[in-house]
Amino acid sequence: MTTTSPLPDTYRALRVLKDDSGIRPEIQTLPSAELPAGTAVVHVSHSSLNYKDGLAVAGRPGVLRRYPMTPGIDLAGTVLADETGTYTPGDPVILTGWGIGERHDGGYATLARVDSGWLVPAPQGTDAVWAMGIGTAGFTAMLAVLALETHGLTPGDGEVLVTGAAGGVGSTAVALLAAAGHTVTASTGREQEADYLRSLGASSVISREEVSGLTRPLEKERWAGVIDTVGGTTLAGAYAATRTHGSVAVCGLAGGSDLHTTVFPLILRGVNLLGIDSVTCPTPLRCAAWDRLARDLPPARLKGVTQLRGLSEVPALADEILAGHVRGRTVIDVQ
Ligand code: NDP
Repeated sequence: MTTTSPLPDTYRALRVLKDDSGIRPEIQTLPSAELPAGTAVVHVSHSSLNYKDGLAVAGRPGVLRRYPMTPGIDLAGTVLADETGTYTPGDPVILTGWGIGERHDGGYATLARVDSGWLVPAPQGTDAVWAMGIGTAGFTAMLAVLALETHGLTPGDGEVLVTGAAGGVGSTAVALLAAAGHTVTASTGREQEADYLRSLGASSVISREEVSGLTRPLEKERWAGVIDTVGGTTLAGAYAATRTHGSVAVCGLAGGSDLHTTVFPLILRGVNLLGIDSVTCPTPLRCAAWDRLARDLPPARLKGVTQLRGLSEVPALADEILAGHVRGRTVIDVQ
């Protein structure tokens, strides 16, 4: 069955353009007929600002695969039309990853035509501002927590380490682990964020060096589980100090993409190294993650870490996030 409601003739988008004068963002009004191919059209109300979006809007290489392009790796809104019949017009939906804002036009537009299979229904009792306050960063943290739990982590097992804890993925991971009853140790390079991390639920806060300084192949067993957003020597140290049959969820490379280590924790302690990829995460796991986010990080718990800004502010915000001046999550009001 095909369900549709009339599309507006035009839509407004923040486009990143490339011409002889270089790469630049510009807000444009475009005919809806020029939306990219896809099976569903979403009336986008909110998007968010991630580091990757900052790179895209600032014209840095490596994120946008072609020009012109609408950035925004996250979006939330309501369905206007769905050729597959999975959704009915008016259904609230969320979309993160699958290459939107990179290979396919993303969330910085009032309309998005996408593959219906990329959408997930917004959990009951949530709204688009909440969903974008979570965004790819919070969704990734949730996937990491689920991966640790699937591999046996239960509350009471002992310390769970989060590295890059004051960042977007890290701080959500701290809050989610604490909400699930785990004892959280937050590792940060920013001492001044210790109170913030404790307010999110960390039982203790340690320095970056306390983890990256663990350089032996097998260190004293300490962590029942690890969520790592840093990579490099931090990941190597955390992995070497993971307890027997503990797991390390590997999310990011904020400190480096190299991993110099040995197989000893794998073969002598049965440690699990778990990869986390939010972009291609299969739909059933996506839905489970969003439902759990709604339970453990309800809207009231996100207040105070979320700021709401307009689409026209995105170019200035992109510079701020690249300079490391943005704290918490930035939700973009696209309308
Ligand atoms: P943020 O920039 O918000 O946070 C990264 C944190 O890492 C910083 O806050 C800082 O934490 C720490 N950090 C930064 N630079 C260094 C360094 N040189 N050495 C050690 N620590 C450092 O990014 P996000 O939280 O949004 O993303 C974290 C990582 O996860 C990124 O690499 C990102 O690309 C990746 N990512 C992966 C996804 C996936 O699907 N796998 C999805 C989303 C993000 P502190 O100040 O506490 O030390």
